[in-house]
Amino acid sequence: CGIVGITGKDNAVEILINGLEKLEYRGYDSAGIYVNNGNGNDFLVKVKGRIADLKDKVTADVKGTAGIGHTRWATHGVPSETNAHPHISENGRFYLVHNGVIGNFKELRAKYLSDVHFASETDTEVIVQMVEHFSNEGLETKEAFKKTISVLDESSSYAFLLMDREDPETLYVAKSKSPLLIGVGEGFNAVCSDSMAMLKETHEFIELTDGDVVVVKPDSIEIEDKNGKKIERKPFYVDQDA
Ligand code: GLU
Repeated sequence: CGIVGITGKDNAVEILINGLEKLEYRGYDSAGIYVNNGNGNDFLVKVKGRIADLKDKVTADVKGTAGIGHTRWATHGVPSETNAHPHISENGRFYLVHNGVIGNFKELRAKYLSDVHFASETDTEVIVQMVEHFSNEGLETKEAFKKTISVLDESSSYAFLLMDREDPETLYVAKSKSPLLIGVGEGFNAVCSDSMAMLKETHEFIELTDGDVVVVKPDSIEIEDKNGKKIERKPFYVDQDA
């Protein structure tokens, strides 16, 4: 039940694993990472079990400059490697991690995704498949992400972190009713559910408000509030050791 993300760092894998270790206290049943090295190579590693098991499964060739990681507390679908996040869209373009619950995932699946083959039993997979669905209809990734969020019902809770293989240094971020922070760096930026996960990299964090959608790149953080208005949110300093 925790999320980490990083963009603009050569050792993304190490940063994500270290971050997930720091989130272990929140409890979880499975974990996974997706990393992309920006020149055509990317890797998805998932396990049922501990971060130590994930670490064992990450071979030396798994490297990236941007990536996302997740510890899962299963709500829909058994704890298993298949149901572990990140989840992938059908054509392999989009990768997503999620904390929370999608209240109307069954309705959304019936309405938009009757032709789509699902790999997992999770509520989360509906989201990544919808992003692909709207992207296939011609929307840019950020717009496809926003449109997906706009059709979630009131009961839904989420912290999302989305990556697009066609733009591998960008992290698409959104949150409502689940915690999520942006870690502010120089030449890199991070995302995490708890600042503890990124204190090794930065002490500056931006707290997000419910409904925010954020586009994070190594040198920029663009926040839109729930009305789609561009907004600045001031970072705060966390005076605590890693
Ligand atoms: N509802 C999602 C699932 O069961 C996310 C659970 C979580 O917050 O870890 O996979």
